Amino acid sequence: MPVRAYLTNTEMKKTNEYLKYSIFFVLIFLCIGYANQNNKYYGFSYNQYKKLCSCDSRLIALFAEVNKTFPCIIVCGYRNEADQNKSHNQNKSRFRYPNSKHNTVPALAIDVMPCGIYQSIDWKDRTRITYFAGFVKGIAFQMGINITWGGDWDNDTDLRDNKFNDLAHYELSNPL
Ligand SMILES: [Zn+2]
Repeated sequence: MPVRAYLTNTEMKKTNEYLKYSIFFVLIFLCIGYANQNNKYYGFSYNQYKKLCSCDSRLIALFAEVNKTFPCIIVCGYRNEADQNKSHNQNKSRFRYPNSKHNTVPALAIDVMPCGIYQSIDWKDRTRITYFAGFVKGIAFQMGINITWGGDWDNDTDLRDNKFNDLAHYELSNPL
């Protein structure tokens, strides 16, 4: 088949139409991108929101604020007797029911992990978890909320003397 080096009038019209539409769509995508560039709020899913809402209002306020800049997942808020004892048996929690701060209503403790943009948790990424914990502590300080992280129970900022690492765990230091 011979190759033509020119377009017929009808073909030209069609190409122009395609071009017009393409430019239109490209402009729309650019506008969406522009509108989103300052929108850094990473929303919680319905399930995570439910977990967050089982906690003390100070924890709700804190992690709603944290999530604006540092994407995170609420792993656990309130824990009932069965879940608490299961956690303890798996050596994930220090206490049996009802001695954990997860067991009060509302819960005075929450487990939160940093996540990627597709909401995946990497439990082995200790560096990022620690980075996240520092961020949470900083925001909490600014908001006047006293919290303890499970990677530094005695709040002395030295992580090497921490005996039991519960790196997703944050609790109100003096809730009353
Ligand atoms: Zn916990």
